Amino acid sequence: MIIERVPVRTVFLPFNRPDITETEVDEVVDTLYSGWLTTGPKTKAFESQFADFVGSRHALAVNSCTAALHTVLAAAGIGPGDEVIVPTMTFAATANVIIHQRATPVFVDVQPDTLNIDPTAVARAITPRTRAIIPVHLYGHPCDMAALQVLAQTYELLIIEDAAHAVGAYWHNKPIGSIGHATAFSFYATKNLVTAEGGMITTNNSELDFAMRRWVLHGISRDAWDRYTQQGSWYYEIILPGFKYNMTDIQAALGLHQLARLERMQSRRQQIANRYQAGFTGLTAVELPTCRSDVVHAWHLYPIRLRLEQLTIDRAAFIEALRGEGIGSSVHFIPLHRHPYYREQFDLHPAMFPVADEAYERLISLPLYTRMSDADVDDVIEAVRCLVQRYGR
Ligand SMILES: *Cc1c(COP(=O)(O)O)cnc(C)c1O
Repeated sequence: MIIERVPVRTVFLPFNRPDITETEVDEVVDTLYSGWLTTGPKTKAFESQFADFVGSRHALAVNSCTAALHTVLAAAGIGPGDEVIVPTMTFAATANVIIHQRATPVFVDVQPDTLNIDPTAVARAITPRTRAIIPVHLYGHPCDMAALQVLAQTYELLIIEDAAHAVGAYWHNKPIGSIGHATAFSFYATKNLVTAEGGMITTNNSELDFAMRRWVLHGISRDAWDRYTQQGSWYYEIILPGFKYNMTDIQAALGLHQLARLERMQSRRQQIANRYQAGFTGLTAVELPTCRSDVVHAWHLYPIRLRLEQLTIDRAAFIEALRGEGIGSSVHFIPLHRHPYYREQFDLHPAMFPVADEAYERLISLPLYTRMSDADVDDVIEAVRCLVQRYGR
């Protein structure tokens, strides 16, 4: 006899959906009719409101977090011969931009609880060529900034934060974006604050901000225009071979209203995380994400780690089974040392990154986004509980 199992959900729950309301739609339409589509008044307003939100002196809007990280490295003069320390447990963009600058990424392992960069591993990786550390606030949980700040001060290194996951997070009551030399945010379609594509660089360093503003738009010098206005408004000077990384006012139109709604969206994320935490209590086959007491977590992602010794299936099969129950999920991340380019170019081996490598085999990110209802969250909990029971040892 074949027993037909009814999936937990008949309507598929996607892994992510952006939270766009009428205010964003109206502002985009207003921009389209305004006669000014690219970088203009709305981008300027978004920059200034974002700087206020994170408590930084400057905020520079760009078209991605990748562009943001690249711009910081270029403006800081990081190039051939320089080393930059990054965690292996991150998205490729964090390290790719170092390659773009012809500098050398140095990969280190992460801490077992948060999977954030391990300061003791950073300390061991520092050489006379080290110029910067790029801590990644993975999943929205801030890194151990105190330990990194000590290393940065001792060895005169820059701290360039990859805060792609961490808008709305706090470390020791300080907003992420106000701590390191520069912080890069992502407003990609799946992130906590969405402009479709987009990013922001915050810094308290006025010289760095000045240099970055040249790098993001072709290397055009604004002060040349000021000095030579008698020559006409058409005059400009290129003083370095800059990038084309500026944000458009269409993106900023989205960002302005996303920022205005951010606190509400963040509290909904916290509620969902709490509901998961309570719903999975007692489920020993699943290790839940941690939140240390000295941070406010941005809850960009909700990554569980399977205790594989308690299950008869592996992570890939678990993801397939979740799909069978109508639940989308994903993996964050395939560590960089597992990717062919980095593995071969830098001769990386799993044994060099025992914590990240072991965690990777067991990671599954469950859906966590503001448009989920409590019933959606409960469906995910039920599906995971069903699978643990079905495939438990
Ligand atoms: C998404 C992401 C990026 C890149 O952001 P983009 O805005 O898509 O360029 C960088 N680092 C991490 C950790 C990310 O998750």
